[in-house]
Amino acid sequence: MGLFTKDEPKMMEVKGRQIKCLVCNNEYFYIREGQLNTSTATFFNLDWANRSATCMVCSECTHIMWFLGD
Ligand SMILES: [Zn+2]
Repeated sequence: MGLFTKDEPKMMEVKGRQIKCLVCNNEYFYIREGQLNTSTATFFNLDWANRSATCMVCSECTHIMWFLGD
């Protein structure tokens, strides 16, 4: 888990609702924000999106959830 040792996992809310991991029900996530690269956006047919995305990685099972936009 070398990539994620620098910061602490956080609890997150989206649309006012506490986010839980769909796999293990954990409530703590490592957060990464960035741009989707063009090939990824095209692969997922997301050319309509602004390609700014938030990536939440479950601190327990490493399941990844992506949110587009802010
Ligand atoms: Zn999990």
